[in-house]
Amino acid sequence: MAKPPAANQGKFPTIAFVNLATVPLGIDLRRLVSALDKQLQRDFVPIWGYPATLYVTDKPKPNEWQIVFLDDSDAADAMGYHNLTKDGQPVSKVFVKTTIAAKQKVSVTASHELLEMLIDPGAQMWAQASNGRFYAYEVCDAVEEEEYVIDGVAVSDFVYPSFFESWHEPMSTRFDHLQKVSRPFQTLQNGYQVVSNGAVAREVFSSGPKEINFQEVEVRTLHRSEYRKEMMPGGTPSTPGGAAGSNAATAHAALLEHAGQFLTTLAAMRDPLPGGRDPFDLMARRKPGGVRDPLPGGDPFEL
Ligand SMILES: [Zn+2]
Repeated sequence: MAKPPAANQGKFPTIAFVNLATVPLGIDLRRLVSALDKQLQRDFVPIWGYPATLYVTDKPKPNEWQIVFLDDSDAADAMGYHNLTKDGQPVSKVFVKTTIAAKQKVSVTASHELLEMLIDPGAQMWAQASNGRFYAYEVCDAVEEEEYVIDGVAVSDFVYPSFFESWHEPMSTRFDHLQKVSRPFQTLQNGYQVVSNGAVAREVFSSGPKEINFQEVEVRTLHRSEYRKEMMPGGTPSTPGGAAGSNAATAHAALLEHAGQFLTTLAAMRDPLPGGRDPFDLMARRKPGGVRDPLPGGDPFEL
């Protein structure tokens, strides 16, 4: 039998929702998927233009993407769920115990994972801002914890393409579905973003409580933001192979799997814009006389 096509080979995906959690989701899965389908068709596809077919199953087919509900990251490890299915398709994981322990809703987490996976299934796309930095092309992180209700089911807010376009003036257009965002690349109060200078990637937050919660309660092990950081040249060195090493049929798959094996300590940075703090600490390069070091001969980020 022919191998299933890769995720980027020109066919809108069918996404299988697979419940492997032992704890209750707190919502009927079919009802959740029906609400997510409405969110896609009514709110998301007219803006982002990337449709998908969603359904619930215990036996996903080889060419389908998956959203898998698992108790926690330990269960994901035990069951061999990493960043790709065994057939090389994208897989997103919703950690049910972890989500509930962080007092978040499973439905909102599932919506977040679904929308982000559709736009960037490999979690490796970035948008460059006018400050030269690269912001992760994740459509829910900056507006995380902003939610709305579809047929009684809470789903996640998401940003629009304009969010990743520096040239828009504040308030000049719509930047997210719920209209909470007022300028490109803004991190909302309870959101976060992954920002990179091309060498390393770090989270930025706009609020202290979110930053603390992120580190202490909201476990992001095996999530997209973690393997983004690992793919950076300055990321934590890693050991190839390991528990996930079964489907490294392509370099892309190998890289994703490789990156996904790491549990890293979250680097914490607040959003530099409101408070004037710079996550890459350019001011630290000032020489005693107060003159900024010129670019030749040195790395301006000097991380
Ligand atoms: Zn995300």
